[in-house]
Amino acid sequence: MSSIVLSVVVPMYNEEAVIPALVERLRPALDGLGVGYEVVAVDDGSADRTAQVLFEQGRVWPELRLVKLRQNSGHQAALTAGLHRSRGDWVVSIDADLQDPPETIVEMLRVAREQGLDVVYGVRSDRRTDTFFKRHTAGAYYRLMRRLVGADVPSQAGDFRLLSREVVDVLKVLPERTPVYRLLVPSLGFAAGQVTYVREKRAAGETKYPLRKMVALAWDSAANFSAAPLRIATWLGAIAFLACLALMVFGMVVWANGTVIPGWTSLFLAVLLLSGVQLICLGLLGEYVARIYKTVQNRPTFHIGFDSATVPQEVEIPKQRSAATAL
Ligand code: UDP
Ligand code: MG
Repeated sequence: MSSIVLSVVVPMYNEEAVIPALVERLRPALDGLGVGYEVVAVDDGSADRTAQVLFEQGRVWPELRLVKLRQNSGHQAALTAGLHRSRGDWVVSIDADLQDPPETIVEMLRVAREQGLDVVYGVRSDRRTDTFFKRHTAGAYYRLMRRLVGADVPSQAGDFRLLSREVVDVLKVLPERTPVYRLLVPSLGFAAGQVTYVREKRAAGETKYPLRKMVALAWDSAANFSAAPLRIATWLGAIAFLACLALMVFGMVVWANGTVIPGWTSLFLAVLLLSGVQLICLGLLGEYVARIYKTVQNRPTFHIGFDSATVPQEVEIPKQRSAATAL
């Protein structure tokens, strides 16, 4: 086992203004743990002095590590980099802006160890400091995601969470190009719990999540977990086909009455029939594309939590599935 018990991954994009305040609160909280730790600060291709400030801070705080990405790759990509570089037995991811209180990390680690959990989510009990717009869009997002991914997705749990090494190792081998960790982690089915915290105001600087990035995250979330958009073609095709059947009768009646321009009926029906058939075929292709997509994502289809042949008999059976669902 490594001597580093805890890794704290902090993605940062243009966060120079907040670093001094972050260091001031994070360091005492982590020093107080009394275990070996590292802080993996991932500079997500910042245009400001984030990397320099981190590097300078690292001179007086040896546990602070700087991992610098060559270009801005986005919050989730920065998290991926941090997970890959972290060495601790436990890995916490936390925002740089002190909206997630660093002191909660201590509680997360305690809960995980005491209850034998692999995942502990930080759940926001109070979002009053967020804007009206952010609270409502976030509410809608979590409702939709629970429908897509299942009830294991704790609502109001962002990217402030603790993971065990086992979970991190599973995440690292997934070949996903656009992971959305707040959904991916619950979908793996590890024993999970949660601690609640009050979401604070951003300590300094501006949000790095403009509407454009929020929409991109929502689309990645939906597309990573649902093939429903691919099925739209099938449904449209089925509707066109049914409409074609109904209109066929209408077309015949009009034709029998002799009130149409010659050629109209056949053209009308041919257009309807062919577009229906084409859409259904597109939908069929979509179904296979969805299967290929699933295969490429290569998510584990099962996860063995316990096997009495490989674990000594006297060991207690580990906790089953998410405590999160029960809360
Ligand atoms: N972030 C990042 N890359 C980006 C955007 C954001 O690493 O392209 C980081 C940012 O520095 C912060 C975290 O992601 O540590 C969350 O961003 P922010 O606090 O701006 O989002 P909000 O709280 O406004 O949703
Ligand atoms: Mg923030």
